Amino acid sequence: MSQKSSIAKPPPENEPAINIDERHFRHAADFLPAPVVYCDRALVFRYANPTAAQWLGKPLSEIVGYPMAEVLIPGRPELSAPRHKAVLNGEKLTLEETRLCGDGNIRHVRLDYVPDFDDDENVVGFFVLLTDLTEQRNAEARATHTYQQLKLIVDAIPAMIAYCDRDSHYVVVNQTMADWFQTDPDNLIGKTPWDLYEPDIAEKMAPAIAKVLSGERVDYEAPRRYPNGQSRVVNTTLIPDTDSDGIVIGYFVMVTDITERKLAEEKLATLAYQDSLTGVTNRRRFAEVCADEITRSQRYGHPLSIVVCDLDHFKYVNDSCGHDVGDIVLKEFANICVEVARQQVDRVARLGGEEFVILLPETSLEGASILAERLRRQCAEHIFDPSNNALGVTISIGITEWQHDEPNMEPALKRADVALYTAKDNGRNQVVAG
Ligand code: GH3
Ligand code: MG
Ligand code: MG
Repeated sequence: MSQKSSIAKPPPENEPAINIDERHFRHAADFLPAPVVYCDRALVFRYANPTAAQWLGKPLSEIVGYPMAEVLIPGRPELSAPRHKAVLNGEKLTLEETRLCGDGNIRHVRLDYVPDFDDDENVVGFFVLLTDLTEQRNAEARATHTYQQLKLIVDAIPAMIAYCDRDSHYVVVNQTMADWFQTDPDNLIGKTPWDLYEPDIAEKMAPAIAKVLSGERVDYEAPRRYPNGQSRVVNTTLIPDTDSDGIVIGYFVMVTDITERKLAEEKLATLAYQDSLTGVTNRRRFAEVCADEITRSQRYGHPLSIVVCDLDHFKYVNDSCGHDVGDIVLKEFANICVEVARQQVDRVARLGGEEFVILLPETSLEGASILAERLRRQCAEHIFDPSNNALGVTISIGITEWQHDEPNMEPALKRADVALYTAKDNGRNQVVAG
């Protein structure tokens, strides 16, 4: 190093004098864990710290006093020559490169070239400080790789995944969300639910967003409409993202399409209360409907009646035309019952075999009698099997009105059954009140 080098310059007058000389700097540099070298204008090493010697793979005695070109691993003068020229012109340079080190390893380094001026502002040499960025770069590369792997997974998940800041701006969105909105992910960044959903739907999200911003996880199901016009039922989960002080700085959004599951559930529920052959209410569900209607009739004092029907000589239909035709007759008869009954008010149910019942809310015995007679006539006139004109089917009917002191429908069903058997005994194809 030059005797008048800048590191040994006295401090400006208004600064306190610090008594540090070149020896102190050498001492400090010798203990630096980062390589430091000093070269003169002739590109001869004048100083190297022990760490630099390790990096160069040579003892200090083979470095200091020797030209750079002899000490350094040869091969890249096209890179080093312009740097040396620039730093010897007084420029301070910082650059990053990958280099082969004396120990045979390839490392990613940052190099700081610092010119050394004498008192006349002439460059008398330069320092080279090397910072090893290999670990940092490797960690960054690993993080990028991990991020890319995670992104691959997150994009492939068939659920909408997003991250929103406190103001509900989408900061991160996955490919599925972009697909649902038929756009690119970039077009969704910075938007809010109010930009993406129709006002009525966005408004319904507001309470859930308020809750997640208060630090609570939220789960809810709701219908949604998406740009392709599709209506879906979705399950939304909002998870708060808190900083180290516990303050909510944003939230994660996961939306799964549960439309198929909902339809399947509805279908299952329907199957659970439907008679599989005819589609009318089954016996188990009928008991529940009766209980509800009795409660209503008790509360409002309304009448409530039942019409119990049994197909006449149905065994003969099966025997003469086959079981399949028997099934068709049962289905058609169920349809006739539904047609005769009031939509949304009366309830047709199959009690079993060829026995059906119609529950008539707000209907007295007189009203039940009118409906039963209409049903009997319609059935007798109906052509059940067009290929077999001879196939006439009649029904016998027992009707009764539920009595207000009866806790359930059982007594009324028994009365109607007795009346039905009376109808059978009296020659069938008739209505008897019980
Ligand atoms: P009645 O006039 O006295 O009622 O005579 P019926 O022949 O109608 O009465 P019965 O109770 O002797 O016979 C009922 C028949 O209904 C016997 C049974 O095989 C038939 N059946 C019950 N369930 C079904 C079904 O789901 N499909 C078909 N095809 N037949 C059924
Ligand atoms: Mg019968
Ligand atoms: Mg029967």
